[in-house]
Amino acid sequence: MKLGAEYFSRASRLPAHLVQVWALIAGDYSTILGGAVDETTAGQFRGIQIDVIRRSTPGMSAANAFNTCVLLLSLWNTAFRPAALWWAAGALMIMLLMAGPILRPRRASSRELPVASRQTIWRVVRNSFLVGCLWGIAPILFYSGAPAQARFVIVCLCAGVVGGGAMALASVPAAVIALSVPLVSGSLFAIFRESGWDALLAAGLIACYGSFVVHMSISHALALVSRHASRIELERLARRDPLTDLPNLGAFRDEVARAEARLVNSGAGYSVLCIDIDQLRDINKRLGYAAGDRVLQMVAARLRETARVADVVARIEGDQFAVLVNQLAADATVRAYANRMQASLMAPYSLPGGEASLTASIGVSVARSVCGENHLRNATLALAAAQGNGRGQTHVYTIADGDGARARELLAADLCAAMHNGHLQLHYQPFLDIATGSLSGFEALLRWRHPLRGEIYPPDIIAVAEEQGLIEALGAWVLGEACRAAAGWPDTLRVAVNISPLQLRSRALSETVAAVLAASRLPARRLEIEVTENALIADQDLARHVLSSLRDTGVQLALDDFGTGFSSLNYLWSLPFDRIKIDRSFISESSHNPDAASIVRAILTLARDLRLDVTAEGVETARQLAFLREHGCADAQGYYIGKAMPETEAARFVESWSGRAAA
Ligand code: C2E
Ligand code: CA
Ligand code: CA
Repeated sequence: MKLGAEYFSRASRLPAHLVQVWALIAGDYSTILGGAVDETTAGQFRGIQIDVIRRSTPGMSAANAFNTCVLLLSLWNTAFRPAALWWAAGALMIMLLMAGPILRPRRASSRELPVASRQTIWRVVRNSFLVGCLWGIAPILFYSGAPAQARFVIVCLCAGVVGGGAMALASVPAAVIALSVPLVSGSLFAIFRESGWDALLAAGLIACYGSFVVHMSISHALALVSRHASRIELERLARRDPLTDLPNLGAFRDEVARAEARLVNSGAGYSVLCIDIDQLRDINKRLGYAAGDRVLQMVAARLRETARVADVVARIEGDQFAVLVNQLAADATVRAYANRMQASLMAPYSLPGGEASLTASIGVSVARSVCGENHLRNATLALAAAQGNGRGQTHVYTIADGDGARARELLAADLCAAMHNGHLQLHYQPFLDIATGSLSGFEALLRWRHPLRGEIYPPDIIAVAEEQGLIEALGAWVLGEACRAAAGWPDTLRVAVNISPLQLRSRALSETVAAVLAASRLPARRLEIEVTENALIADQDLARHVLSSLRDTGVQLALDDFGTGFSSLNYLWSLPFDRIKIDRSFISESSHNPDAASIVRAILTLARDLRLDVTAEGVETARQLAFLREHGCADAQGYYIGKAMPETEAARFVESWSGRAAA
């Protein structure tokens, strides 16, 4: 970084000088240092400026209190006493306002660089302006008509506050200007109302002080910023990967810690992706290390382009990258995000020695509630699981990836017991027929409150069951429970049941379904089986066969989380689905993102042409529902209509809904 050299250079031209001064006042460090300064580094510069002020705040407050008392005393035996008392009360309030945010300790440790936001700087500027106005009003109110001694005290105090205040605030020139301009203007105004050489002298003195302190503050602040520039630059370098200029592992860990803090404070979930380039070693061997380095740089650039602005892309090891995805904590949506990353990395790389193409394995860990998990570690474990499935795979971390084998067996035993002791339950989330406003059914969703671990996320339950060979039993239990409950509902309502990818690989599934329908006496057309695209990828012929035999039992088939998968549309349309469920990420985005809105419209048109029913998932607002109604979507599900609820509550929900519709 070039260190504010122009300001100090005697040969500098005035415009360049003014640009630097203005940059300093506006907090534009890139212009001062002659190189790009990112927001984190700018925060550190601000932190250093504020730190100086913070340290002098107690002294400054004491001096202000003392000055206020002196002014009060000098006016005590004059007609100005009541006005002076009001003025002193105002001074007291401003002092309290100033002390609050500045005194609050902000540093985690003395070795860490302090950090301050733009807001903190502007708060200091605002407070300085208030102090400036207070002391600028004093001479206007009290100078004219005051006894000579009191006038002398007023001039001394105003000059003292400009000098002392500016010294304390010198590291933030904008604050010095905010303090001195109203103060000096007020003093000059009051003095110029008087005539005589003493008034002129006093005016000259205060004007000189004013301009001197502003000049001194600018030099001081520039020197301060320059002095710390090299330290901050070193810190920045220590946290970056020199090859790709991305944050390194240390910096990434800090970002994850910050995301975790946001989750604790505001409940904002996040996800961590660990991305491994499958073929880097081959490229190094075939085209040399320089080509390998170039590929890593291109991968870094593509990841940055694909990630959203608020996300953090880092290089954490040789051929491993990591992405922190803020505000994204739904499995299907994160999968879609990972798929976009995969797709962008798969496009060919043209290199001096030839062309290369590659695939990436991705491990994902989703942080949706505070549970003390290390999500970077989980994402690494998920990456290992993805790599175990072959190249170019994505795997989302589940409990089954983390704990030891013995612990997982115990959890599976608990799951088995839970099916029988009532700890495992189904909750039901309503579907709305948009055109008629009546209910069209419910989706059955698993709930397990483990006595020690608390609520377990449904996909985790499924993962444990799949790994421990319990999925058929669990799937049959879910089907049985859901059909038994649905048989008690009005005949117009359907029940939707989710089926895991492993269940779809078993030819016994259609037999289980037929047996459950017979036992519950639920008409087959009222049962809908929901399958995700990912379930269809592994063994497509088998999936097609199982789906067809399911169809033969008379049940309806729905394609879940539509739009987040990776399969070709041609292939999907050739399967015997009756319905698609548009993933909730498109619905939530559709309110503010025109691209998402046009995707939803396109899916609706396509489904109409192919005579498929459509359900829109994740409808959370009246506006989203109105948008879907306007574009002819028949069915909707989401918190706006109702959350998943226990069976008894669902029965009451049906009654109250039909009452509402009748009224
Ligand atoms: P899914 O099939 O996509 O189910 C919808 C999920 O979205 C549910 O989460 C539901 O509570 C949530 N949801 C519904 N409306 C809204 C909304 O308006 N906003 C938001 N933010 N979320 C909404 P849940 O119950 O945690 O289930 C998660 C996933 O677990 C399900 O996703 C499904 O894939 C799986 N799952 C649940 N029960 C079963 C089951 O019995 N068997 C199988 N194989 N999978 C299940
Ligand atoms: Ca579903
Ligand atoms: Ca879904």
